[in-house]
Amino acid sequence: MSAIQQQDGDLFELIESEKKRQAEGIELIPSENYTSEAVMEACGSILTNKYSEGYPGKRYYGGQENVDKIETIAIERAKKLFGAEHANVQPYSGSPANYEIYFALLNFGDTVMGLKLDQGGHITHGLPIGFSGKAYNFIPYEVEKDTGKIDMEKVRALAIEHKPKMIVAGFTAYPRDIEWRKFREIADEVGAIAMADISHTAGLIAGGELENPVPYFDVVMTTTHKTLRGPRGAMIMCKEKYAKDIDRAVFPGMQGGPHEHIIAGKAIAFGEALKPEFKEYAKQVRKNAVHLAEELKKRGFELVSGGTDTHLILVDLTNKNVPGKVAQSMLDSVGITLNKNTVPFDTRSPMDPSGIRLGTPAITTRGMKEPEMERVADWIDRVISNIDDLEMHKQIKEEVREMSLKFPVPGIK
Ligand SMILES: *Cc1c(COP(=O)(O)O)cnc(C)c1O
Repeated sequence: MSAIQQQDGDLFELIESEKKRQAEGIELIPSENYTSEAVMEACGSILTNKYSEGYPGKRYYGGQENVDKIETIAIERAKKLFGAEHANVQPYSGSPANYEIYFALLNFGDTVMGLKLDQGGHITHGLPIGFSGKAYNFIPYEVEKDTGKIDMEKVRALAIEHKPKMIVAGFTAYPRDIEWRKFREIADEVGAIAMADISHTAGLIAGGELENPVPYFDVVMTTTHKTLRGPRGAMIMCKEKYAKDIDRAVFPGMQGGPHEHIIAGKAIAFGEALKPEFKEYAKQVRKNAVHLAEELKKRGFELVSGGTDTHLILVDLTNKNVPGKVAQSMLDSVGITLNKNTVPFDTRSPMDPSGIRLGTPAITTRGMKEPEMERVADWIDRVISNIDDLEMHKQIKEEVREMSLKFPVPGIK
């Protein structure tokens, strides 16, 4: 019997029920993944008991002989994985990490450029009611209406017009590769700091599938739990000349004690990502996404930008006459999890948008390949083309369950 089961039946039941949901369903949310059992073991370890404010060798409490070594391993592996000059592995998650970068390198009120939020930017890139939008003057750039891709000449023109102190590149719902070098050139032309937020694509970059911005960007943030397949958290990488400012902004600027159990999980995940198998994984994530995109197109789905270069697909459901919200909830009911999402120049509202966003990191971790992508596309098509046929949905749910159980989730027996 597990300790939770003995002590807290309610929580035990809920966790068991979530295990069943994860095992029996197809996870297509592109920001989700399954960590290894080793990563989970670190996150559930006694390291959660330790306070270690400060950095290795410079802590404010005693008893750091083990924790210092653990955090140092995480830092060294992160630097090796991305070729970074400096890495801070303490950020609690992606959102605080972005605020820490702004806090380190900007003054309140400074001008920053980021992708428009309803076109794929993240809420920490200037949401008007959020911290970033209130503390800084965010100028949004856009994608092109006909291609769905970022028009770098327009980014350049906006940068010349607004002279931002920082340009943020990196997105939460953009299916295409990013022209990092062009962003760097534009930042240099106007004297801006170049910041990349690679939260979504870090695993594909680490696996050598997408170009790495770390060598020529000033500062790069990534979450560790998306394609990178580590524990929930984040890290900041930067050039040596910004290292002191970044470290001070993380602690004591924004955070107190680092979560060393999670940092141990990050160290293990970075170790996994340094292995040759991870390159295979990253390659298959992309192959699966491209194949799934093609299979959806064959079935009459319209994809923003016409396809994908990454793990992520954005579908405009306007021609299917099914709103994103309805698609999300009906697919959920058959065990296929994805999220409703705005599409560029959406005529509907963010709470009830025209599109859905899906991706392949999680199902690829389970070992699914091209043949399974065809089945997934087929199920999505059948549900959306027969949105009210509950009898058919019931049958699809059984098919989804049967296939899912053939591909175990790490840590679920
Ligand atoms: C996920 C994400 C974040 C935020 O990460 P949280 O850990 O959810 O706070 C920041 N930026 C981008 C581009 C993301 O995709």
